[in-house]
Amino acid sequence: MAHSSSSRSVTGKASSSTSVTRSLDTEAQFVKGVGPRLATVLKKLDIHTAKDLLYHIPRRYEDRTHFARVASLQHGETATICGTVLTADNVHTRGKLVLTKVVVDDGSGCIVLTWFNQKYRKEQFNKLRGKEIVAYGTVQAGRWGVEMGSPEVEIFSDEEDSLSSLRIVPVYPLTEGVFQINLRKIIAGALDLYAELLEDALPEELRKRLGLMDIQSAIRNIHFPEDDEKKEAARKRLVFEELYVLQLALAMRKRGIEAPGRGIAFSIPPNFDKELQELLPFDLTGAQKRVIGEIAADMSRPTCMNRLLQGDVGSGKTAVALAAMLIAVKNGYQAALMAPTEILAEQHYLGISDLLGEHDLMGIRTDMLTGSLKSKHRREVGERVASGQTQIVIGTHALIQEGVEFRNLGLVIVDEQHRFGVMQRAALMEKGLMPDMLVMTATPIPRTLTLTVYGDLDISIIDELPPGRKPVKTHWKQVGERKKVYAAVRTLIDQGRQAYVVCPLIEESEKLQAQAATELAVYLQTEVFGDLKIGLLHGGMKADEKDAVMKSFRAGEIHILVSTTVIEVGVDVRNATVMVIEDADRFGLAQLHQLRGRVGRGDEQSYCVMICEGNSQDSITRMTTMATTNDGFVIAEEDLKLRGPGEFYGTKQSGLPTLTIADIFRDVPILEIARKEAFETIERDPDLSGEAFAGLRRDLLKKYEALELVAVS
Ligand code: ADP
Ligand code: MG
Repeated sequence: MAHSSSSRSVTGKASSSTSVTRSLDTEAQFVKGVGPRLATVLKKLDIHTAKDLLYHIPRRYEDRTHFARVASLQHGETATICGTVLTADNVHTRGKLVLTKVVVDDGSGCIVLTWFNQKYRKEQFNKLRGKEIVAYGTVQAGRWGVEMGSPEVEIFSDEEDSLSSLRIVPVYPLTEGVFQINLRKIIAGALDLYAELLEDALPEELRKRLGLMDIQSAIRNIHFPEDDEKKEAARKRLVFEELYVLQLALAMRKRGIEAPGRGIAFSIPPNFDKELQELLPFDLTGAQKRVIGEIAADMSRPTCMNRLLQGDVGSGKTAVALAAMLIAVKNGYQAALMAPTEILAEQHYLGISDLLGEHDLMGIRTDMLTGSLKSKHRREVGERVASGQTQIVIGTHALIQEGVEFRNLGLVIVDEQHRFGVMQRAALMEKGLMPDMLVMTATPIPRTLTLTVYGDLDISIIDELPPGRKPVKTHWKQVGERKKVYAAVRTLIDQGRQAYVVCPLIEESEKLQAQAATELAVYLQTEVFGDLKIGLLHGGMKADEKDAVMKSFRAGEIHILVSTTVIEVGVDVRNATVMVIEDADRFGLAQLHQLRGRVGRGDEQSYCVMICEGNSQDSITRMTTMATTNDGFVIAEEDLKLRGPGEFYGTKQSGLPTLTIADIFRDVPILEIARKEAFETIERDPDLSGEAFAGLRRDLLKKYEALELVAVS
């Protein structure tokens, strides 16, 4: 063994040199100390082989490098003590419980170890009278003086290098049927026999350059670290490898999607910036210009654009989308814009044909195609798209799926549904289409996720709002204050503004939710705002009904729009400056932020009032976060923390395997290095065919092929 520490036995015993062939794939039941019964238990921890044991990473560590003196223990402190067992007794308490009391003396004083309802302990400790034991637990000042309740205990003998004292001790994830001490012994034994069989998958050059520990030392030190520094170095190495493999998969996938050489190289018209600016009724912000530049650069390359455009609500993504579509159209291609709902598709359609129509720009023909179109009309639009007469087609996400034929589709823009965009891409590629693709989202995605879940997309961020926007003032009110809230709404309406009232989310049933919205609208109309015009919008309404309502709200004929979450994304009515959200704590943070984004879209000061009691810590956190910040990124990070990465924006369905060692919050710095290295690696060796990558390639296929993340050609 090259590394001296790598062959040092953890248990202190010389590693066995029997000639029986050992393999990392040895079934766990044949590993020393396991056996068939325990093997069944270990399966619940996803431990099946010797290698799995080596990769069962401690959940945390306890520093037991020195023992505490009983005489100086403080109430509440967690400590390890070492002393001699004096007595063991069972005491019956009034509540019919049996309490085992074990008295231990360490020379400085006595401590009482206690257990409830574990009668057998008395017998166990009586046998240990006069012997030294180690106990680890939380100290209490109790009935019998210094006590430790249900401590972790081990017999201590200094002839043997103990696994659980005088060192940094690993604490493992457990399951019923296996104890900490037990598992610690088994893993120590497995390290002695199997760690030397581990082969380093990381190329030596990379390891040396980044100063990463070799795999055998890393695995030994992640379990039984020699010191804190080694423990950190071990963890870093293992985290790096896990993230590097993930990033290699993403890099390969990205390359596959971009299909170098097979995409369309659009040419950017000279004076494009000027032409675009003339089309728009406002000056583009610096951020919009920058992002349009990034998109134009992508589009002019012969690879397929695969870009995610992030911009908080109201940041002006539509203008950016229009710019990209114009580039496509001016090159003689068609562009499709897909929105998640018909309302939004229509809004995009109105907005874009407005901009184009007014200027009669080269007579660009824009059509809308949604599920609710009458079949005759639908057929006509379909024909125009197929013949190429229509250059820009706007519809719902179903647009591409519904068998619509394009003459020469060059650009697809997907609004508000990120993963969907990626899936669509695959469907398009199957049809032999290689359009550029732009996915837009108003949901800020924390960096940890853009580096992992969305790691195969390029990212553009609009980080600036159009000038003159005032942050929405957000208030959290109790149910009892509703009257006051309504009074405030009335004041604003008297000033000529309009309002949204969002009714509670009822996840179980859209029907119930529609009913709740209807009842709320009736209540407001009859009991509160009798003299005003109240509108109603919910998912159960027919498309043309929804249309009519949105039209009259936009036209200012409706004062208050009572709605379900159908208004969540994209609805843009500048004169609506106040939103009341009922039972706000039923909504997640991201959703509240989206809803709030419907107001504050013009120059007027806007307000968002969330009504709810705040019955849990979680809901209090959400309400106060909303009330204190308008920054979508801050909200997204908070949301990710509250919900955990698995729940976040459907990342569960994102097709990414769970990370077992890395923590995507804590390990962003390592993640960034791993990403950079992996992308450079794939740049140099797209298929990882080099000798040095053999191990990685194998791991990669094993871990990611089933998820169709990588298709190594
Ligand atoms: P979102 O990013 O939420 O889709 P939109 O594209 O709908 O935002 O833009 C929000 C509003 O801001 C629209 O009314 C749009 O006309 C306006 N807008 C966009 N860009 C600018 C700008 N640079 N200056 C002023 N107003 C702008
Ligand atoms: Mg939008």
